[in-house]
Amino acid sequence: MSLEPHHNMSLEEMDKRSLFHPFTSIGDHLANGPRIMSSASGVHVTDSKGRRYLDGAAGLWCVNVGYGRQEIVEAMTRQAEALPFFHSFTSMANEPSIRLADRVLRWAPDHMSKVFFGNSGSDANDTNIKLVWYYNNMRGKPAKKKIIARNRAYHGVTIGAGSLTGLSYCHQFFDLPLPQILRTHSVDQYREKPEGMSEAEFSAYLASELEALILKEGPDTVAAFIAEPVMGTGGVLVPPAGYFQAMQEVLDRHDVLMIADEVICGFGRLGAPFGTTHFGIRPDIMTMAKGLSSGYQPISASVISNRIWDVLKDTSGEVASFAHGFTYSAHPIAAAAALANLDIVEREDLVGNAAKAGAELKGALQKRLGDHAMVGDIRGVGLMLAVETVADRATKRPFDLSLKVGARIVAKAYEQGVIVRPLGNMIAMSPPLTLSSANIEELVTGLGRAVDAVADELAREGAL
Ligand code: PMP
Repeated sequence: MSLEPHHNMSLEEMDKRSLFHPFTSIGDHLANGPRIMSSASGVHVTDSKGRRYLDGAAGLWCVNVGYGRQEIVEAMTRQAEALPFFHSFTSMANEPSIRLADRVLRWAPDHMSKVFFGNSGSDANDTNIKLVWYYNNMRGKPAKKKIIARNRAYHGVTIGAGSLTGLSYCHQFFDLPLPQILRTHSVDQYREKPEGMSEAEFSAYLASELEALILKEGPDTVAAFIAEPVMGTGGVLVPPAGYFQAMQEVLDRHDVLMIADEVICGFGRLGAPFGTTHFGIRPDIMTMAKGLSSGYQPISASVISNRIWDVLKDTSGEVASFAHGFTYSAHPIAAAAALANLDIVEREDLVGNAAKAGAELKGALQKRLGDHAMVGDIRGVGLMLAVETVADRATKRPFDLSLKVGARIVAKAYEQGVIVRPLGNMIAMSPPLTLSSANIEELVTGLGRAVDAVADELAREGAL
């Protein structure tokens, strides 16, 4: 131990020496160092070298109200002064978390009953797994425990949520997934829906595959199905028409719970309050995070239906205590931030703006990139959009991942002052819901130039 400060060390050096970055290539990081963000306002962020970028990713799909919202800062400050922390175990409570639970239920579908707070989307999904298991234990169905998740799903990285995630790079070298997790198809209409098949037929096929899996495993062993309304990290995959209705019929037939992971979709990103609202899903559990506080504080929620609550409450005499929860569950400063955030979303009708700006952004992307030689698909709902690049439009042949086309476009976009996110060969966009027409032009101009620049490079390399 040495508490002597490193006076002469640059922040970049200190970072490389001390900070272990999530989802980062260790080799690249040690070679290139960090990109340090210093300040932000509205939809723009500024790095430590003074370069300003339009944040087309809203951080990680989360800063829905944009940066620099003084009223959230003030709400957090007031709460920190009054009561910075107290726990919520053993019936303890604080005002902002009570008000936030009430507010979340007013946003949620009417059949939702209770809100359990956590700190991240991952821990909320772990809570959901435990809730499903607990519910079936309390119902006298101890064998009904398997949970079905989809290929390419992203539900987080903790042991439980990471097992629900259906991306091999999140499992490899971590000894995941857990054996109780089963897998079914994703909803990739661009690549997996056969030519000539209608969306309704594709939905019916996916539902029949789900049912076949449940029957093979034995309905008495299958507890729940989890799905993002629009799949995010897996590639912004929009379900075919009628998908959730067809899937829910199967789930209902076999007494299998529906978990809607609304971590990205929730609180307006799709131009509707939730993905659940947009697609007419009837969830038994909803996972919420990100847009709940726009990332001003870490907070998540597991929201459970009357059907689950009725079982839990009936067993309250038999069980000494619901022995699950985090030190920071229902954290008062996080709850105060979330309340102030939802005030803004409601007052400024950001749900409505997400629908309007989303349609405008998609139209502008189609106009600029729709005919581009290396763009195969432009898709999304509201302000959750993606561009999928291809080596050949006619055959949809993907670029070899070793070409790192997504990462190269993102690097060029940074040079243009625009932040977007690579997902393999795809580029994802999820800007703040405040996005204006001028912002859309800035985003599409920067991204368009980045795609052109990478196309030129690939053509020179003979890859396009
Ligand atoms: N679910 C979904 C749908 C997500 O997109 C994410 C994060 N991107 C998570 C869960 C996990 O959230 P966190 O990173 O806060 O653990």
